[in-house]
Amino acid sequence: MPSKKIPIAILGATGAVGQRMIQLLADHPWFEIAALTGSDRTVGRPYGELVRWVLDDAPPPEIARMIVQPSEQVADVALALSALPTDAAVAIEPLWAERVAVCSNASTYRMTPDVPLIIPEVNPGHLALLDHQRAERGWKGCLITNPNCSTIGIVMALKPLHDAFGVATVHAATLQAISGAGYPGVASLDILDNIVPNIANGGEEAKIETEPLKLLGEVSESRVREAQIGISAQVTRVPVIDGHTALLSIGFARKPTPEEAIAALADFAAPPEVRGLPSAPARPVIVRAEADRPQPRRDRDAGKGMSASVGRVRPCNLLDLRMVVLSHNTIRGAAGGALLNAELLASSGIVS
Ligand code: NAP
Repeated sequence: MPSKKIPIAILGATGAVGQRMIQLLADHPWFEIAALTGSDRTVGRPYGELVRWVLDDAPPPEIARMIVQPSEQVADVALALSALPTDAAVAIEPLWAERVAVCSNASTYRMTPDVPLIIPEVNPGHLALLDHQRAERGWKGCLITNPNCSTIGIVMALKPLHDAFGVATVHAATLQAISGAGYPGVASLDILDNIVPNIANGGEEAKIETEPLKLLGEVSESRVREAQIGISAQVTRVPVIDGHTALLSIGFARKPTPEEAIAALADFAAPPEVRGLPSAPARPVIVRAEADRPQPRRDRDAGKGMSASVGRVRPCNLLDLRMVVLSHNTIRGAAGGALLNAELLASSGIVS
């Protein structure tokens, strides 16, 4: 635990993910918000006057009074959580990483070879890439990323199964919440009474097919050797506010029984260095025994939104096993994932 609170900036603080970051940082034991940034639309005005708060309650009064800073102006902080759009992140995140440790949600640098893509319970050892990153780029800070909001729940379920039985192939069909599109997001006339079988013009499927390979890979000689898993994804946007569901069929190198897979999932624990982090859930994966769970409305807040819930683990007629995975897209899949990464950087001594 740091001896005094570490100042932190939120980049893109007015958006859906930025607001979650503010909510999760209220009364944080290690960090305090020192700067909020936005676009030309909001810079120079008090946060509370311009933000369209989409969460329950309201921003804390001391945050509402803060003046929004330009995202290009690097603040005097040790850490930054980035909720910038992909295109804005291209130039702005490296600018900050020269001096500040940046934990990004944006997809921009997730697959860049020297940028760690991290789920602390899954691959904290990938932080080893930072020595190479800092040496090559001459940064005093650093840049790490968290995965796509559907990838994260899927990989939290795959990790214990991969370690125990060797995952070989995955078919993933997702049912993704509308908050994943930010605010104002999908038009009501498109999503009410409807399901849209496309997100980001195929970009979402590509992320689910590639990011798990890096996350489940091994660091060797300053790069990640990707896991050899064949993944096919189909995504849909559904009229749920928060909580992404993934329907998985999985083929294994060594086929487990459903009971063996359930035991591996239920026993999954974070490495010791991650267990005590303030935002780490007691159980990363929660196995539901009921025939009709997990469900977004009932299970998205499991572990304060940081656990993945898994249910309906059964034999599959095509591959070996099938199951349903659910995780909170703006908490574990975005703001909470970035915050847990920041806590990992602080506890590893990379940020002090
Ligand atoms: P959003 O609601 O559209 O918010 C975007 C934020 O970025 C706002 O604060 C906006 O500020 C700021 N911004 C926009 N253009 C900018 C520019 N040119 N320069 C500087 N700042 C700019 O988006 P979001 O849903 O919060 O998503 C943020 C990021 O997280 C995206 O990269 C997204 O892909 C990723 N992500 C989202 C989710 C999710 O569930 N929503 C999950 C995982 C990852 P103004 O309000 O001042 O315009």
